[in-house]
Amino acid sequence: MSKINDKIYDVFIAGGGINGVGVARDAAGRGYSVCLCEMNDFASGTSSSSTKLIHGGLRYLEHYKFRLVQESLKEREILLNMAPHIIWPMRFILPHTKGMRPRWFLRLGLAIYDHLGYRKILPGTSNVNLASQKTNSPLKDTFKSGFEYSDCWVDDSRLVILNAVDAASKGASLRNYTKVTNATSSNGLWTISTKNSLNGKVEIVKAKAFVNASGPWVDEVLKESFKFKDSKNVRLVRGSHIIVNKLYEGDKSYICQNKDGRIFFIIPYEDNFTLIGTTDIDHGKSADQVKISEQEKSYICESASSYLKQEITTNDIVWSYSGVRPLYDDGASKAQEATRDYVVSAKEYDYSLMINIFGGKITTYRRLSETIIEHIENFLGKRGKPWTEHSRLPGGDIKVASLSEFEAKLKNKYSFFTNELIRRLARSYGEISFDIFGDADSLDALGDNFGGGLYEAEVQYLINNEWARSSDDILFRRSKLGLILSETEIENLNLFLKKNNTKSQSSENIVPSENKEVLKA
Ligand code: FAD
Repeated sequence: MSKINDKIYDVFIAGGGINGVGVARDAAGRGYSVCLCEMNDFASGTSSSSTKLIHGGLRYLEHYKFRLVQESLKEREILLNMAPHIIWPMRFILPHTKGMRPRWFLRLGLAIYDHLGYRKILPGTSNVNLASQKTNSPLKDTFKSGFEYSDCWVDDSRLVILNAVDAASKGASLRNYTKVTNATSSNGLWTISTKNSLNGKVEIVKAKAFVNASGPWVDEVLKESFKFKDSKNVRLVRGSHIIVNKLYEGDKSYICQNKDGRIFFIIPYEDNFTLIGTTDIDHGKSADQVKISEQEKSYICESASSYLKQEITTNDIVWSYSGVRPLYDDGASKAQEATRDYVVSAKEYDYSLMINIFGGKITTYRRLSETIIEHIENFLGKRGKPWTEHSRLPGGDIKVASLSEFEAKLKNKYSFFTNELIRRLARSYGEISFDIFGDADSLDALGDNFGGGLYEAEVQYLINNEWARSSDDILFRRSKLGLILSETEIENLNLFLKKNNTKSQSSENIVPSENKEVLKA
């Protein structure tokens, strides 16, 4: 049975990754009516599998990508102000030794990076003495000096969810687990068929403009839903990361150059872990099948071991994830040289508008959304003005100077929470924490305890306000508690979700990018 939705939307969006929800939020905030469908969970594609940096991309300077670097650098502080609870400044140490790009060359690159960066908050580059005890460096003693520069860290999947929540609060209709299966245009309207994978319901939606924000699936959507015969716009380049138990104290990250000239990062992750990656490999398969290969695991371990005092082997891997970059196919011969810039195409079919997004980075999603809205404005007429630059994402209005001050404010109200829980809540929900826990005055008031500081009150909030349906939605995208919960604790959460009529199934079925096989290996 298919249901026909009588409403005619201004804008329909296929894909609930960062670019889709970014467009939905901007458009809804300007007064357009918006419907977005995501075939799995929000952020289940590339947008939860990134290195999680809001950055200009130091290495793109080498490829003379000044426009991309400048736009990205400008976005750093805009996004930091927008969501200071899930985005924070991070200092990166770039160790220097013989055989690397020359010292003067790196210093020059960093000076350009600082200069292009519109910095008001982030400190600039400095030299660093790695041999000093004070640096407490996890690097081998052969690395004696280097540079230290600024970029930002982002919880990528929460950035997606918070954009979705804000879009919904501005009137957009968003659905996860709902796939676009067909789209035809006639007389200025798209007729779009969608299918919900949880209940099998088919719904027909009508809209004036269609935005194809399906990331790595962009060509597949054009072929399968729009019946385009030949569509080859993006090159799928896989990147994998490994997570190991915490390797060093402190909050600094390391950017290292591998023997093959590639860059990889070593980053503090989720308090108790260290994140290392990434790779750049032509994927050559469907975006539905993304998994780290044994070769990638060894490559990342060997790369890290060549820098760190502690040797890293594949036995140290506690979790890994892989994603595919949907890079605009500019014909570059090497995967790492393909452009990271985005390309937007807008065309009219039978008086209805179709926009395709090729490529893009988490960092540039807000600007990309503004570009898409310009096309929509040209077609549907102007409504509202650009507004996201000085906006806040839900929970981001923390009204204190720093996250640690905000943690103190939370602790003041919820003195019975552990410091670890306070830290996690501050960095996941910011001000919304007060809505989730209200006037609770003891842990008992929060309902069932699922372990790792996850209580029923939070789970209910995620189901009711953030579209969470499965344990993976909760444990791997709306949080990363899946890294610390035991199998029994996850099973208890699954039982609770079943009782609450939501879907609980393993990530293999719904999260192509997360490789659970190695979880708690
Ligand atoms: P996605 O997040 O993949 O979203 C597309 C969505 O469309 C998916 O959720 C999919 O399920 C959905 N979809 C597909 N077909 C349909 C359909 N028929 N109906 C409905 N929905 C559909 N960028 C940075 O700025 N900083 C970084 O540090 C960084 N690191 C990266 C590291 C790696 C390894 C990778 C792979 C990328 C990295 N990026 C980084 C780039 C960034 O992650 C991506 O460019 C960005 O997430 C792409 O977002 P998207 O919305 O276009 O695609």
